[in-house]
Amino acid sequence: MNYALDTVCIHGQGQREGIETTGAISFPIYQTAAYAHPGVGQSTGYDYNRVQNPTRKELERIMTDLEHGVDTIAFASGMAAVSAFMELLKPGDHVVATDDLYGGSIRQFRLVNEKNGIRFTYVDTADLTAVEEAIQENTKLIYVETPTNPMMQITDIRAVSDIAKKHHCLLAVDNTFLTPYFQNPLDLGADVVLHSATKYLEGHNDTLGGFLVTSHKEIAERAREIVKTTGAVLAPFDAWLILRGIKTLSVRMEKHQENALAIAGWLQKHPKVKDVYYAGLAQHPGHETAAKQCRGYGGMLTFHVDKEETAYHLLEHIRLIQFAESLGGTESLMTYPCTQTHADVPEEKRRANGIDGTTLRMSVGIENVEDLIRDLEQALT
Ligand SMILES: *Cc1c(COP(=O)(O)O)cnc(C)c1O
Repeated sequence: MNYALDTVCIHGQGQREGIETTGAISFPIYQTAAYAHPGVGQSTGYDYNRVQNPTRKELERIMTDLEHGVDTIAFASGMAAVSAFMELLKPGDHVVATDDLYGGSIRQFRLVNEKNGIRFTYVDTADLTAVEEAIQENTKLIYVETPTNPMMQITDIRAVSDIAKKHHCLLAVDNTFLTPYFQNPLDLGADVVLHSATKYLEGHNDTLGGFLVTSHKEIAERAREIVKTTGAVLAPFDAWLILRGIKTLSVRMEKHQENALAIAGWLQKHPKVKDVYYAGLAQHPGHETAAKQCRGYGGMLTFHVDKEETAYHLLEHIRLIQFAESLGGTESLMTYPCTQTHADVPEEKRRANGIDGTTLRMSVGIENVEDLIRDLEQALT
C-alpha cells in the first residue's frame, strides 16, 4: 500500500507483526526481560529485551515508514541515539558539523568523541562554500541540524548531500524539530536521520526516547550491534508511549505550526521585541530553502527582546507558558538558551551564534493561541 502521511502515523505502510491474537487495537506492551525458548537451539526470534522487543519493533516499523528509511533503531533518549551513531566513527576521523547544534550534541562531541580521537570543524552549514571548505581528506561525516537550535537557520539538505557524496562521506541530519511530518532528510540525500523522540514524536512532555533511521542496511546493522552492546535501548512502556504519541503527530504538528505562525507575527509587532526567527516568515533568510525542502515550518521560534531585564521579566511572569527547557509537547514552554540548553557552549561561541541574555526560545504548544498571546502580552509589560 501507499498510504498518506497522516495514515502512516497511525498504521505504518504495512501490517503489524502477526504475534497478536486478541485483536487488540492498541499494540500490547511486552513488559518482559527475557523470552522462553521452545527447544534447544531454537528461538521464537525473541531472546532478551536488550536485543528484541515486539513493542519497540512495532514503533521502529512506523518510524521507518514515516522517514522512508530501510530500518530504524529506537534508543532510550535522543542523546543515546546520537552517541551510538558516533560510535560508527574511528579515531582519526573528521566531522563537519553545524555550528548552532543542540547543546547536548556539542557536549557529546566535545566530552566523548574528541577524547576518542575524532575531530570536529563547526561551520554555518547554511553556507555551502563554508561546508565545502571545511572538508578534509579524513572527513567521514557531515552532521547537520535544520532548522538549528535555537537560531532556526536552514541548511539546504540536498546541496549538502551532494557535497557529502562528492567527498565520500556520510550525511546525518537531526530531524527533531520538524519531524517526518514536515521533512524527510533521507529523500533529500541524507544517509542517517537522528531524532529525539522526547520532543514532537512523543509529544506530551512525558518520556524520553530517540531514533536512528537510515537508508543503508549496513549502517542499521552496525548501529544495532552497538546498542545491543552498550545497552541504551528503549523500554517497552516508553516505546508504547511514543507509538501512541505518533498517532496524533499530524494534527499536533498542524496546530503547533498554526499557533507558531500567529505568535511570530504578533511578536514582530511588539515594541519590546527586536528580531523573530521563524522560517515560516517570508523575511527569514532560510525561508526559500525551507519552502523548497519542507512541508511546513514547525512550532519552534526564537526571538530577541530589547534588553536582558525584559527577558528576565518575561520568564518570571509567564503563567500559562512554562519556563522549562524541553520542546515539542502539547504544553507551551519558554527556554532561556544562555543559562539552559546552551549553558555548556563557551560564551564567545554563543555570542558568535547570536545567543545572548536577550535571546528567548519558545516551543509553541497546542493551547488556544489567543490565550498564549494574552500570556505573552501581560509578561512583556
Ligand atoms: C532534545 C534534543 C536532543 C537530545 O534528545 P534527548 O531525548 O533529550 O536525549 C537532540 N537533538 C535535538 C535537536 C534536541 O532537541
